[in-house]
Amino acid sequence: MTTQPAAPRDEDQRLHVEHAHGETGIFDAHHPPTDERISDCVHCGFCLPTCPTYALWGEEMDSPRGRIYLMKIGKEGAVEFDDTYVQHFDNCLGCMACVTACPSGVKYDELIEAVRPQLERNYRRDRSDRLFRELIFQLFPYPSRLRVAAVFGALYQWINGRQLLERAGVLRRITPRLRAVEALLPRARLRDLAKRVPAFTPARGAARRRVGLLTGCVQRVFFADVNAATVRVLAAEGCEVVAPRSQRCCGALSEHAGREPEALARARRLIDAFEGTGVDTVVVNVAGCGSTMKEYGRLLRDDPQYAERAAAFSAKVRDVSELLAELEPVAPRRPIKARLAYHDACHLGHGQGVRAEPRAVLRTIPGLEVIDIPEAEICCGSAGIYNLVKPEAGEELGQRKVANVVSVAPDALATANPGCLLQLRRHMSGGELPMFHPMELVDASIRGINPIRSQPTANPPPTRRQPAAILSYLARASACRRK
Ligand code: SF4
Ligand code: SF4
Repeated sequence: MTTQPAAPRDEDQRLHVEHAHGETGIFDAHHPPTDERISDCVHCGFCLPTCPTYALWGEEMDSPRGRIYLMKIGKEGAVEFDDTYVQHFDNCLGCMACVTACPSGVKYDELIEAVRPQLERNYRRDRSDRLFRELIFQLFPYPSRLRVAAVFGALYQWINGRQLLERAGVLRRITPRLRAVEALLPRARLRDLAKRVPAFTPARGAARRRVGLLTGCVQRVFFADVNAATVRVLAAEGCEVVAPRSQRCCGALSEHAGREPEALARARRLIDAFEGTGVDTVVVNVAGCGSTMKEYGRLLRDDPQYAERAAAFSAKVRDVSELLAELEPVAPRRPIKARLAYHDACHLGHGQGVRAEPRAVLRTIPGLEVIDIPEAEICCGSAGIYNLVKPEAGEELGQRKVANVVSVAPDALATANPGCLLQLRRHMSGGELPMFHPMELVDASIRGINPIRSQPTANPPPTRRQPAAILSYLARASACRRK
């Protein structure tokens, strides 16, 4: 097990920021939200019903239109970077439902992505907020650290930690953020922690494409089966799959949180990792990562060494469903008879405009009825780290989404983002609805398995074999370190 170097975030590595008072108001001169983009908004309000925070609170300043107005008065210097001002932007999930809904083509995505780094540079959060965010960013982008956390998670689940904490009255007393961390803890399966996607997987039969695969951070540790299924499906459909060992976090989480220098450093490293692999496409099975990787060209536009390479890299990025929808299926599918609710992850649907492809790919499975969920455009409340930093709003949105899912009485649910899967599992009381990434279902169909019948419950009772598995995992991990 190797430890990756921490992403740079020190003062000396920060972007050089030239403060220009006057023209840019409270924003500094490094890519503030532009007047041109701000003035695209004609205040019609068509975006309001699709905005989750407006749906929750009915507050104008927590709507897309209100936030664009806040940017305008920020540019005019009529406000300060104070708690109230920042709060309205922190409340935004970055779900981009407003971009889909806007008839005037307002690029709210570019606007909020310009504002978030400004907040990170020019506003000092309180100590506990800074510490909590730092904890997240020192953990999530590092698979090796996540694996260690997963071992503790497995121990916690084995001793039924939640029940113990509840009995001791601790759960009631910890902060809502820590409660959210506890509640969202993924099921830790120790046998999955040592699983790795091979660096190269040959195509089954004649190769039609040579593709690279992003293995992700949370994805490779807690959703190793999804990566394995994705590789099998791609190989079965005639793709050689290259998964460079040197790949690290793509920077999506950092980018969505406005940690610009960190996000850019990660983007550069990922571009380096895939360069020279000879792949014609870089395939992603995580919606949030794909939406950022498609933006590398814009994010690195100021970097003379990377601008062109980043644009070329972004042009190759496809969600796995986009690639499969492009390829004529060659691998025979066996039936899976079930009603499947498909949940559009915001960063796939709104962020990348990829809605038809995952449905089309799922419909190649005979017998599978793919159904839509009411209020499909409204975010489930996961939104990167949103359900951790804004647990109350995340919880309300999660419960609302689950109620909509349950209303169509599906046999199972599919969605293409690990954050959505964790969020929906958390709020699905009893965990009785089997949930999948679409690739797991396509893979199962190709292999002739019906996973909907054999799916364990979301929160299986702890098994007595866990301690043995923990010890064996720790032994393997320490053997790896010694090599
Ligand atoms: S963002 Fe678009 S939909 Fe929303 S108020 Fe402005 S112009 Fe109208
Ligand atoms: S990104 Fe989502 S939460 Fe933010 S303003 Fe747009 S619709 Fe509302």
